[in-house]
Amino acid sequence: MLELKDYILKHGKVLSGDILKVDAFLNQQVDINLLKVIADEWFDYFKEKKVTKILTIEASGIALACATAIKFNVPFVFAKKSITSNMSNNLYQAKVFSYTHQNTNLISVDKSYLNKDDNVLIIDDFLANGQAVMGLLELCRQAGSKVVGVGIAIEKGFQKAGDILRSKGLDIKSLAIIDSMNPVSKEIKFRMK
Ligand code: 5GP
Repeated sequence: MLELKDYILKHGKVLSGDILKVDAFLNQQVDINLLKVIADEWFDYFKEKKVTKILTIEASGIALACATAIKFNVPFVFAKKSITSNMSNNLYQAKVFSYTHQNTNLISVDKSYLNKDDNVLIIDDFLANGQAVMGLLELCRQAGSKVVGVGIAIEKGFQKAGDILRSKGLDIKSLAIIDSMNPVSKEIKFRMK
């Protein structure tokens, strides 16, 4: 998606450790015009899939999931990374190793919010090693929900999870796929599709 690639080139910062910082438009300050075009793009791609719920993981997936849920006119649910005292103990749970924080979180969704009749569209900001998506897939497996697709804003193609998950039959729509990024020259190369 041209708009997203432009934002990445203009405002993204390539850090060491294969991290792209996008705080200026996605991860801290959020550009609402970009959110809207992203949601439109995923809606166009997944609109025939009878989506009943959008599922993401806190925190950075929430804005994208919210904009997308408005477009599909369905609820969105976000998996929590920590258990708080006001949560029930009736939870679907999965372990997720965080690429950016280098720690493992037990992610949870209350069993009331995902069920076997749901057609779930998973949304996240990045796809790197696939841990977050695999954790969300596991929650859907426990709930008996059908995963109809995965919408990713930025896929780091050089980290291969996207290719592996696609080869298993998952329909992943990534709006920008980065094939390489150089922390010294700052050059970012996108996959041509
Ligand atoms: P994965 O689970 O696929 O390894 O990594 C995806 C998750 O880690 C996303 O939810 C995202 O928040 C975070 N992440 C992975 N790589 C990056 C990155 O380069 N930049 C930012 N800002 N977040 C990332």
